[in-house]
Amino acid sequence: MIHGMQKTTRPHVVQVALKVPFAPYLDYQLPDEFDLPSVGARVVVPLGKSKQLVGMVVSLASSSKYQQLKPLTAILDSEPLLNEAALQLLKQAAKYYQINLGEMIFTALPAWYRKTDNKPIPIHYWWQVQASLEAARTALVNAPKQLEVFEYLYQHGPIQSKSMAHINPAAAKICRQLQDKHLITSSELSFLATDHACDPGFTLTNDQANALTQIENHQDQFKVHLLDGVTGSGKTEVYIRFISKLLGKQQQALVLVPEIGLTPQLFQEISQRINGQMAILHSGLSAGARARVWHHAARGLVDVVVSTRSGIFTPFKNLGAVLVDEEHDLSYKQQEGTRYSARDLAVLRGKIEKIPVILGSATPSFETLNHAINGKYHWLKLRSRTNHNPMPSLMLQNTQSKQFNKGLTTQTLGAIESHLAENNQVLVFLNRRGWSHKLMCHECSWVAECDDCDAYLTFHQHLNLLKCHHCNRRYSLPEFCPQCGSQKVETMGAGTEKIAAGLSERFSQHQIVRFDRDSVNTPAAWQKNLDIVRAGKPCVIVGTQMLSKGHDFPLLSLVVVVNVDNSFYSSDFRATEYLAQLLIQVSGRAGRAKTKGEVIIQTQFPEHEFFQTLFKHNYQTFAQQQLEERDAMRFPPYTYMAIIRAQHRNESVLDQFLHNMANGLEQHEDISVLGPLPAPMQKRQKLYRMQLILNSNDRKSLHQMIHQLKQRNEASNEQNIQWFIDIDPVSFD
Ligand code: ADP
Ligand code: ZN
Ligand code: ZN
Repeated sequence: MIHGMQKTTRPHVVQVALKVPFAPYLDYQLPDEFDLPSVGARVVVPLGKSKQLVGMVVSLASSSKYQQLKPLTAILDSEPLLNEAALQLLKQAAKYYQINLGEMIFTALPAWYRKTDNKPIPIHYWWQVQASLEAARTALVNAPKQLEVFEYLYQHGPIQSKSMAHINPAAAKICRQLQDKHLITSSELSFLATDHACDPGFTLTNDQANALTQIENHQDQFKVHLLDGVTGSGKTEVYIRFISKLLGKQQQALVLVPEIGLTPQLFQEISQRINGQMAILHSGLSAGARARVWHHAARGLVDVVVSTRSGIFTPFKNLGAVLVDEEHDLSYKQQEGTRYSARDLAVLRGKIEKIPVILGSATPSFETLNHAINGKYHWLKLRSRTNHNPMPSLMLQNTQSKQFNKGLTTQTLGAIESHLAENNQVLVFLNRRGWSHKLMCHECSWVAECDDCDAYLTFHQHLNLLKCHHCNRRYSLPEFCPQCGSQKVETMGAGTEKIAAGLSERFSQHQIVRFDRDSVNTPAAWQKNLDIVRAGKPCVIVGTQMLSKGHDFPLLSLVVVVNVDNSFYSSDFRATEYLAQLLIQVSGRAGRAKTKGEVIIQTQFPEHEFFQTLFKHNYQTFAQQQLEERDAMRFPPYTYMAIIRAQHRNESVLDQFLHNMANGLEQHEDISVLGPLPAPMQKRQKLYRMQLILNSNDRKSLHQMIHQLKQRNEASNEQNIQWFIDIDPVSFD
């Protein structure tokens, strides 16, 4: 009898979230012989006739409104994989972004944990030096190849041997030899234990000290701090000192960076200054390595995790703060599938875990700045550079009626020449890879376009073909204009490939280092290019967006920015905000070291008010002016926006679908509905794209309306139209 009593008090319905779009969770029956699974543990459950899926237990219940539940197949985790806070974050994120809970959870979960077989996670190793450079030089007098690998590791470690293949193809073998000599040691992939915290040997500036004190005064409570500091003002130093404080209290820190390429730099900077366990986390790691980081963070085995966007979901045993570096960066917003903003979720996480959140940037997003202005966020300003270097000087280079050589004006080329002559390095920045902007007939104005997308084709000289940058479709180069037969078909506008070619001709004695997706597509290629630049010889770096962010090139004294004028034609109300951030970030790359920096912007519109406000004054003045305009026009951050995006092969079916959707929306005085409108790129990969734009003064009613719309349209979508809800969109495209 007693036995029976125990059984009835134990919950026997398990609510399981699955990666399915139709329900936040499904009810399953807990077989008597199973242990009670924990909330946050993974289980295997049957779905439909034959499928077995991994699911996440989100709650336990004593009854279900459904009859005849299917039983669980297996319990995979004896301890929960997601703790209370991590699960809360996912639940609230799913609700906010109108995503099904199971889909939210399974986007967050490292792929390793999505498999039913539950195999133990494999472990891989990274190499790092264990001995001093002098000791190694002595020990390796007669082994130059080993010394070469050691020196590389000394500079760049920890690193996997496969990333050293360009130094020596037998790097793996050499590493084992160095290990036998106790000169280097290996540790688990993506982890690093440090115990040699060095003293940087400087005192904090007043601004830094003040910021740190302010942050420390709000430990163990939810508070968002905006660390608003010009490039080189020592934001990283503030992060590091605060992190050290947290470690002293056995708390963990999560540091987010906008892109993979920036993780090693910050990881290294922090690791040199703290004693503890560090981990790195991004999508470039193997599924197993990512799962190990989760495992370690959840058990408190790692102190600091440096991660890209998706790391915001990592479960931590005792999280003390979330730090978001370059918080304005658009990479924090996931633009496909589950559309969430990791920066905004960092703030939500801070609230859930009752911990401080630090948002750092030299060019804060207007959303964040607005919260700082109205006092919701704590505004900490770092206004001077630690090395007291002046900010770079700016020259606007009018491109109208100027002589050009492969994309650069004669004046620009002259400036590059004189900086190289002074043994400095130069960066030419432009956001266009390939050779040209478009291919055009000079007789009839025909332009080569993609058949599947609403986009021009880009010529790539090394491939001798045309490529669509939106679907990757390739086309051969026409010898004649397909429209009029003329031979006057020529490339117009410059991409990185053309600029680099022009620079190679003009400055043949110097190295031209190109960073774009075509020329650096592996970590090893990155490293190789970085090595060339860091070696310190004068050179010209030609790069796209991938170089605009935090990368530190100490010898850079001139930055040239090409091809920004498109922003002035954009229909996106945020275009100038983004351009201002980009220009300031790119300019910040110049003159971080000894030399005073110089910035040249090639533009058709040097008189434009935009440049006058931004550069005669500063980012903050510019932002404040723009914010006033946003307020007057009733745009975010003063209103709340959502976009319904839909795509389909048939344009009129699509139009009808969105029309019906718009008509089905109740009139609401606080919400304006615009559309259906074609997306800025009307067609991509054979699919037409349209959108409804919803803008509201009231976040709550907007979200309610979208919720209703979602429920209504999930039931009636006979044409099988793909459509998505994008809450707080950062782009219309
Ligand atoms: P930010 O992240 O704001 O661009 P960093 O944190 O990279 O700036 O700092 C720029 C440089 O200044 C770094 O090399 C850093 O070591 C150094 N630095 C930071 N704080 C100080 C300080 N108080 N005094 C001298 N140098 C400093
Ligand atoms: Zn023609
Ligand atoms: Zn295309």
